Amino acid sequence: MTPAHHLPEELMLAYAAGLLGRAGSVFVESHLALCPVCRVRLALLEDLGGSLIEREAGSVLSRVTVESVLAASERDGAPAPPHARAGHRCPIMDVPRPLARVLPEAMAAEAWQVDVDGLLYYTLDVSDEQCSVRLLRATKAVVEPLHVHEGIETVLVLHGGFAAEGDRYDRGDVAVWDESVQHSPAFDAGTLCLCMITIPGAIRVAADGPRPHD
Ligand SMILES: [Zn+2]
Repeated sequence: MTPAHHLPEELMLAYAAGLLGRAGSVFVESHLALCPVCRVRLALLEDLGGSLIEREAGSVLSRVTVESVLAASERDGAPAPPHARAGHRCPIMDVPRPLARVLPEAMAAEAWQVDVDGLLYYTLDVSDEQCSVRLLRATKAVVEPLHVHEGIETVLVLHGGFAAEGDRYDRGDVAVWDESVQHSPAFDAGTLCLCMITIPGAIRVAADGPRPHD
């Protein structure tokens, strides 16, 4: 199923211009592996070339829709690019290959830290001073306490899904929350939910209670 929530334009531009560090690149490439729409958006950006990107990017990206991509792929029968193939085996479950490449061969159970009851996180080695990249794993239906980040948090759903701020996020979907958005995602019951998140800066808890992914 094609994701409904995509990479924001600024993130696509930064990636296309080679401005993202390793952590951000792994995030972007993992979404690309799951999303034919954003693969086309990126290809169009790359065709524009560096000097034209800023001037033309908005109009190019806005022309790419789910319908146009599906119509083009049916017409052309074009194979997906190498980075587009998902389904690489990792110690937890199948994840996109760009993410699988940076996972350790063995993920010790004790390396998973408790966020709140039912929610565990694992900090990836590609994290740096500007950006922490984590896997977030919900083992039961759980709602994170309302909180807000200093900077922009991005979330990519790898398995299962969650609801937040009136929207629904499933496999391949990207959620983006800046410091103006208090959020309290509710992870699904009955399925193992796995997300990749990038978090810059600190977290402020908006209500009494445990600190989410502190
Ligand atoms: Zn996308």
